Amino acid sequence: MIRGRINRWNGKYGFIILEGQHIDTFFHKDDTPGLTENDLREGLEVTCEVRQQGGKSRAINVRAIVPPVQPQGEYRFLNPYNFVRFLNEPTILPTTPITQQLLGRCMPPPHDRWVGLSGQLICKLTADSLLFVSDSERVEERQNGHKAYSFFQLDGKAAIPATTLRGVIRSVFEAVTNSCLSSFQEDKYPLEYREAHSPDFIPVRVIELCNDGSALLERLDCTQGLPSGVSTNGKPNVMMTGAVKAAYPPRVLQTNGNWYNERYSSLRGLPADRDGLRVAAIVSKQPIEHARRPFSAFEVIEVVPASQASTLQLQMSPNHIMVYGWLHATGPNIENKHDERLFFRWETNPNPKSNDELKNLHLAITCSKEGVAEYNQHLAEYWHRHAKGASKVTLPQLSVFVTPGRKLKVGDLVYYFEDHKDGVSIDVLRAVTIPRRRYRTKRQELLPEFSHKCREYDKLCPACRTFGWVSQNTNDVSSESHTAYASRVRFGNAILSSDAGVESEISLAVLGSPKPTTTRFYLRPKSRRPADGEEDCQVDYDADDVTLRGRKFYRHHNAMNPGEYTRMTDQDHDGIDDKSRTIIDARKPGNAFKFTVDFENLSEVELGALLWSIQLEQGMHHRLGYAKPLGFGSVHIEVQDVAIFDPLVRYGKDLESGWEKKIDQITNWITTFENAISMLYRHRDDRFNSLENVADLRTLLSAPINSLLPIHYPRSQPEPQAEGKNFEWFVGNKRSGKYPGPRLVLPLAEDDRRGIRLVDRDGELK
Ligand SMILES: [Zn+2]
Repeated sequence: MIRGRINRWNGKYGFIILEGQHIDTFFHKDDTPGLTENDLREGLEVTCEVRQQGGKSRAINVRAIVPPVQPQGEYRFLNPYNFVRFLNEPTILPTTPITQQLLGRCMPPPHDRWVGLSGQLICKLTADSLLFVSDSERVEERQNGHKAYSFFQLDGKAAIPATTLRGVIRSVFEAVTNSCLSSFQEDKYPLEYREAHSPDFIPVRVIELCNDGSALLERLDCTQGLPSGVSTNGKPNVMMTGAVKAAYPPRVLQTNGNWYNERYSSLRGLPADRDGLRVAAIVSKQPIEHARRPFSAFEVIEVVPASQASTLQLQMSPNHIMVYGWLHATGPNIENKHDERLFFRWETNPNPKSNDELKNLHLAITCSKEGVAEYNQHLAEYWHRHAKGASKVTLPQLSVFVTPGRKLKVGDLVYYFEDHKDGVSIDVLRAVTIPRRRYRTKRQELLPEFSHKCREYDKLCPACRTFGWVSQNTNDVSSESHTAYASRVRFGNAILSSDAGVESEISLAVLGSPKPTTTRFYLRPKSRRPADGEEDCQVDYDADDVTLRGRKFYRHHNAMNPGEYTRMTDQDHDGIDDKSRTIIDARKPGNAFKFTVDFENLSEVELGALLWSIQLEQGMHHRLGYAKPLGFGSVHIEVQDVAIFDPLVRYGKDLESGWEKKIDQITNWITTFENAISMLYRHRDDRFNSLENVADLRTLLSAPINSLLPIHYPRSQPEPQAEGKNFEWFVGNKRSGKYPGPRLVLPLAEDDRRGIRLVDRDGELK
């Protein structure tokens, strides 16, 4: 990198005066990553690289030294993670030099003879921020489900397990060599997302599960076949189900108190497993309008088990009618819930119709076996998401259908709709009216083909050849085919070698969980760069021309803020509950650990890639262990020695050891790798520094260019909150309708310098 100052600028191209030189160097707008037209101006201090082209100098990779000044009073922050881009598949010809071919996909070398460099690296790992690696055998259960974790130990000494080191180094190695994504979990079903509006559904009851996996459903639509005396009276959007009023008075609140009292509920007297119960009910003959929203519903005045219908007669008035139906009671599952639903069809006969009768009356619908299987998956995902909170006794509670192993069964009350997209229609069942829906596209379909996990032994990526590979194809058991390749590197455990002290106990802030349905963060348009922060960018998993952004990496934080990483408490939350995590003996910056890496049969270019991945570059950090989004676990590693083992000497006639120190070779091996990969991917006109994956790694693993920006998950206000209601930012950001949210996108890692703004749940920029 060379420093300079923009001397002339005409909107398209300009000239830079480089430090210590007196001639102008040309640059073009296309070579200014992360700078917008507003930033580019004469006098701007920049860094750049200089390339010779046709006998002339040209500045590329032009970046501002001082970040653009923020508008006054605007709070901005950096997201704790971003992505390292994939590179396109390179062209490899028989004439391509072997060092470059070894960075493509090819057959691994044999393990049974000496064919390359073998030896050992001695490494020192130093913590640059607080570091915590958990010991799974020393977890303390404290009150209210609150857990306390201790730092990993071996023989009573603080240590980092070899598997952790290996994982961290492999992820960097994969990114820098553009290898396959070995830890990518393929979706069996596409992801689900939450929509703001109800689909056009029909309330139904499951009346038969068929042998072929499909299901027979009974239509229960109270807007059809109105008896005399009943009318919708011109009311708007009458719901297809009745509303059981005051099911949860006065209201359900997220509190430890007892706001909800069954005594005042219109469901009192019904058994606890009331969902799906055959009931008799008194219903209003005309729908009533919702106080604030544009819809109406037939009001259910009173509801009792069908067998007690006679008790209702006494209370009937001319405006009311008695019907039989089914109660769909999902429970006090959201804040401020009042009502439950009655599925009914104005029937006055206490006995339900037989399946044959329903078929003859065209009141039966078939849901395909795919629709049933998808619904069962949907229920399993619900349980998976909520299993952790299942034991809590506070309100709101989990919906009654969120239980382990739950599957669609006869008697279930659900909503049925057909989901149409791109001329394909599929059956969907859901338990609630504003349900989670499912994309059509699985995530792996948006992953470039070249980045998929290696499948064939003779086409393994550099990382699989170096760190090992196991075939995913479990059918392939013939003894002829290779189904695995053993690693050529072996990590040792890292043992504490220099003690710089510990933080005895830290109560950690609540960590967010990944939100892959936040499409503006995980996806980007294939053909253009996402805008820098502020522009709408309609991408979802089913859109054309989208791609996964790349490999997720947590940013290095250069200053950790205890206000961000410790759990906040307030009057409602004492910080002691099942969300709390206490960590014991987190290592302070300066603690150092030593470990070894044994390797065998590596080529020079592979050893160079391994060394680059271990040492990184000046100012770059690995991200290791627990609480990375909060800034924990920034470390750097120094290779202190390299010993190469020469079997010809070892087993030769002179009885020498065969080990030789080669510390002075490290730079050469790394340079071999850097040259080979830049030649392979950039066709010899460019440099290692300009590769997109290298630029992204460097941005994310170094101190941020604007060191003043705080790093934390998106949220609604500058200060962290006790309950960490981060989802409000996401709700507000994607808000649609009359007052749409700002639709902020995550900029590319190397463009993400000015930070993202706060958004509240109403979609207001703060
Ligand atoms: Zn691979």
